[in-house]
Amino acid sequence: MSYEVSQLRGAVRGAVITPADDSYDKVRAVWNGMIDRRPAIIVRCADPSDVAAAIRFAADNGLPLAVRGGGHNVSGNAIVDDGLVVDLSGMREVHVDAERRRVRAAGGATIGDVDAATQRAGLAVPLGLVSETGIAGLTLGGGVGWLRRAYGLACDNLLAAEVVTATGEIVRASEDENPNLLWALRGGGGNFGVVTSFEYCAYPIGPDVHLTLVFHPWRDAPRAMRHYRDWAPSTPDEVSALGVLWHAPPIDEIPAEYHHEPVFAFAAMHLGEPADGERELAPLREFGDPIANLSGTMPYLEVQQLFDEDYPAHELRYYWKSLYFDRLDDTTLDELAELNAASPSPHSNIDLWQLGGAMSRVGADETAFGDRSASFMIGIEANWENAADDDANIAWARRVFDTLQPRSTGTEYLNFPGFYENGSDGVRRAFGANYERLAKLKKEYDPTNLFRLNQNIEPA
Ligand code: FAD
Repeated sequence: MSYEVSQLRGAVRGAVITPADDSYDKVRAVWNGMIDRRPAIIVRCADPSDVAAAIRFAADNGLPLAVRGGGHNVSGNAIVDDGLVVDLSGMREVHVDAERRRVRAAGGATIGDVDAATQRAGLAVPLGLVSETGIAGLTLGGGVGWLRRAYGLACDNLLAAEVVTATGEIVRASEDENPNLLWALRGGGGNFGVVTSFEYCAYPIGPDVHLTLVFHPWRDAPRAMRHYRDWAPSTPDEVSALGVLWHAPPIDEIPAEYHHEPVFAFAAMHLGEPADGERELAPLREFGDPIANLSGTMPYLEVQQLFDEDYPAHELRYYWKSLYFDRLDDTTLDELAELNAASPSPHSNIDLWQLGGAMSRVGADETAFGDRSASFMIGIEANWENAADDDANIAWARRVFDTLQPRSTGTEYLNFPGFYENGSDGVRRAFGANYERLAKLKKEYDPTNLFRLNQNIEPA
């Protein structure tokens, strides 16, 4: 295939990186240390016109196209061998309209960028739990965080977007302009174009909130898991919680004999007055005989960065999957305990996400995201150090998935997708009855499936 990179360089303001550039290896690296792909061209876009020029260049020259927001998707789809990467990591501006509680963030912004800007105005946008994650992939795929039960998913709070389509046209999606496109962006992934700016509604939060974080020894995990399951349905929407089948991180607050050993933790945030949060979350703190209690009042910004250290970029190798559950029966909890103890890596964990609240009051057809009726989501996270252990760790995560699937709803959260190896079946199941409408919109906005490195919807 022959093409003139110089033509592209002449058409964009941002840098155009190829394998000949010194920065190539740094720029092609994504968060998951397992991903080692070698694109032909990386366009570090400076503005929407650069995005449009890069899309046209890829289409005209038949180059596979990848889109990079925060580069955090486990599948590594932000990068592609021998293709062109539209890299938005230089476009991270955030503008906060404190009076109207509206936030506009560029397509390459991270959660940390948005949190820093919004907290200066005493506000927050419902996003995710780790500050380095990109808002783009997270929002387009749904977005579950500490505010999910009070204010919904990230995509529920998306009010408008600027999108560069497959033809390189720059359009706006809002309730008034291209409302179908806005509907599709609320959970339909990167299928419909490159989003260069997201507009969200924001809510007053903080600066301080209450977080409960309590670790229990593994021998108490069966009882603690049941306590968590039985407590979860009674909580107010201000609370969002996780039960974590973990391996204890080697931190000073946890006795050394437990480091890297299996433990069970309650992690829950209350978004209102810290004193109210402390009271609401007492049932989690007062349970059993914990080995460490890290609970307390802390800045919301600190809560948003609490898990950052557990997920270093490039250093670890990652493979994550997920399943939804209407209920967690005792068999499922017992299986989970066995599976966590059998994990080949002390960095891995299994998260029991409490769902419900505001996110579940949005109808399945109101956004592309689809059904929200499940009470829990289980996130299966294989995290490990060495390439030699790839097979064992991926096999473990798949074993967890296969063991749990029969008692799940059968659907996955597409932002914890493994390597999308379940193909179009998994994607169809996740979108449910929305799939047909999405396929029609895909045909309208991307008939040649140029944007296909994602939770792909085939054009109708
Ligand atoms: P990228 O890898 O850059 O992009 C992923 C895909 O999104 C791309 O392949 C592309 O298809 C599409 N895309 C990216 N940018 C754009 C754009 N501007 N326009 C159009 N399409 C685009 N999810 C949660 O819901 N809650 C969490 O708390 C949470 N925590 C996480 C913590 C960590 C450490 C990690 C790694 C992930 C976490 N996730 C969480 C999952 C996260 O939502 C997905 O990995 C998401 O895809 C990350 O978005 P990104 O922009 O960083 O990804």
